[in-house]
This record gives sequence, C-alpha cells and structure tokens, in this order.
Amino acid sequence: MEAAMPLKHPLALLGLLAVNAASAATLLPIQVPALEGAGGEQQFGTDATHPYRPKEAVDSPRAPVFAVDAQDPDSKPLPYYRIAPDTYFFFGNIAEVDGTNRGFNGNAGFIVTRNGVLVVDALGTPYLGRRMLAAIREVTDQPVKVLVITHAHPDHYYGASAFAELPGVKVISQAGTVDYVRSSTIQHSVAYRKAFLPAEMKDFKAVVPDTLLGGAHAKELTLRLGGKTFRVYDSGRHHSHGDLVMYQQPGNILWVSDLAFNGRVTFIGDGHLREITARQDWLLKTFPHARLMVPGHGAPQTPPFPMVAQTRRYVEQLTAKIGASLRQGVSLQDAVDRADLPEFANVPLYRLNHRNNANYVYRVLEEEQFSP
Ligand SMILES: [Zn+2]
Repeated sequence: MEAAMPLKHPLALLGLLAVNAASAATLLPIQVPALEGAGGEQQFGTDATHPYRPKEAVDSPRAPVFAVDAQDPDSKPLPYYRIAPDTYFFFGNIAEVDGTNRGFNGNAGFIVTRNGVLVVDALGTPYLGRRMLAAIREVTDQPVKVLVITHAHPDHYYGASAFAELPGVKVISQAGTVDYVRSSTIQHSVAYRKAFLPAEMKDFKAVVPDTLLGGAHAKELTLRLGGKTFRVYDSGRHHSHGDLVMYQQPGNILWVSDLAFNGRVTFIGDGHLREITARQDWLLKTFPHARLMVPGHGAPQTPPFPMVAQTRRYVEQLTAKIGASLRQGVSLQDAVDRADLPEFANVPLYRLNHRNNANYVYRVLEEEQFSP
C-alpha cells in the first residue's frame, strides 16, 4: 500500500507517517456488567412480516426490511449492492437493534482495488462482520487491507474484530474511539447488545485501531491503494466520541456516515450539537462536486443531497423550539413535551429518538446560557 498526501501543513505529514508505520490493531476484551430488563421485544425493531429488498440502493426511497437468520453460517455472504464501479454497499434496516435485524441496522461498504480492499464500517456484531467478509470474498480475491471505522457506535463498529483479526489490516478511526473503548459506556453498550444477541456477541472484543485521526493526531489522511485515492478526514465529535468522513476517487464519492441521515431521524445525544451544522457546512463547501453520498443509515444519494438539508432542518428546528422554551423559563420536562416537530413526526425512528434528542438539546442550551 502506498500512502501519500499533499504536504500542506505539518499535520498532513503526520498523517503520512502514520500510514507508513508498521502497526496492528489490537483486540480488547470488555468487562460486561449485569443488565436487567434488556433483551425483550423492541418497539422500533425490524418487522419482518413484510420483507422488502429494493432493486437499486442509490436513491431508493425505502431501506430494506431484512431479517438476519442467525442459523445461517457466517460464511454466507450478506446481501450487497454495487453502487459504483468497484464500490459495494451493505444496506441496513432502519430500526433499533433487535432479534430480527440482529444488529444489521446500519450501513457499511467496501471498495475493491487492484492491490487490496478498503472496507468502510463493520456493522453491529463480529458475526455480521464475517458475513461482510464472505460477501467481499464473493466479489474479489483481493485481501482486505484497510478498515475505516467512521465512528464507534455499535451498529458501525462491533463487527470490526472480523477484519482486525486478519493479517495486515490497517484499522483507522477517530481518536475518540480509544476514549470510548476505555470508558464504562462501552461496557453497558456491549451488555445491552449481548442481551439480544448472545451468540453473535459471545466472544466480543473491542478493536483498538492502529491509526488515529483527530485529537493530538493528524486531521486528515490520504491513502493510495491500487490506483484509487481515499481521503479520510477527522470530522470532530458531531455525532459520537469521534467521527470520520471519507472521500473516494475515482468515483467522486463521499462516505459521510452519520453526518446526514437518509429517511431516519438522527440520534444526537452522544455528539456535540454545534458541530453538526458546522461539519455539514464544511462537507458541502469542500466537496461541491461530489457525485454520490453514502450515509450510515438509509440509501446512498445523488446531488443535491437533500438528506443533508433534512438532517440539518431537524436539528435547527429542535434547537429553535427548545431555545424558545428556555427563554420562557419552561422546565426540562415541559420543554421536551412541547418539542414535537410535525415535519418529522412520520420519519422512521422519530418516536424512538426525538424525546432523547430534545432532552439533550435542552441541557446543551442551558449550559450555553451559563458559559457564553
Ligand atoms: Zn449510526
């Protein structure tokens, strides 16, 4: 694998060195606390009584309704779509994790080059990661060389060990992933997921990436692999402990993960409210000519990328509504009760996420009042 980047500033140079360094991701067992009351029915899980598989992924108005059968061997390829030359996409359910989607409730993808495969995200369990790998094997004999973890939320990250266990795979993520792996948050998250998916999560180990962006590290990294170029960018902490976006050439494709949601209400409680719109501004300004945008949830989209505007409108409307309540001295509970946004009431996962989001925004705005 070659790595190179324009040497614009010292941080760029650091990025170059990081890629050349011989290093490997490590696997860390996670202590799991006892968790009561989890593992039952999920109100916003996948209803598999009406399975659905769109013919095309790009600009599909609906996401698939796809039940994962845990009896299937992990050598069975997960279904995938070709969304551009050499570029493949795993199209996840729009739902919370449950015993039907079994953690396939987010997207992932991979790009084949003549010198190896780059994978973007790893889905929600090691089992799903192995089924991604089986799909990659169906497409190409090229070895997996790079895994980019856009952020360390379970639906994008808990399958990573399937790739990190392979020889010579470079694992790239934002520096916040390491904070997450060392926090008690991951312990509760793994315990929760184990309650639904005990078999698939049995020997779960968290992947500690070998290459980090953001924080004290470089802010961007350019990988050249088999004639293709991948620019990976620190995208701050707009959605999680640390987020990345990736730009792919040829193809002019932006992998934005959870910076924009297509056909789903966002969850913003783990990130930083003010960073969402700032990072979206950066994205649209930096890549005005992108041809395809691949989100972490929902269909890949062609310009003018209405999902960015929609995600933004949701955040702005919610912020405005909570802000008005705060100015009127309304309590947290009442402000959340009054925070309904009719435009989004029928968007999937609104009922799951909206009150939590409102709660989070109230706390952020309240804090900002005291620390201008
Ligand atoms: Zn997500």
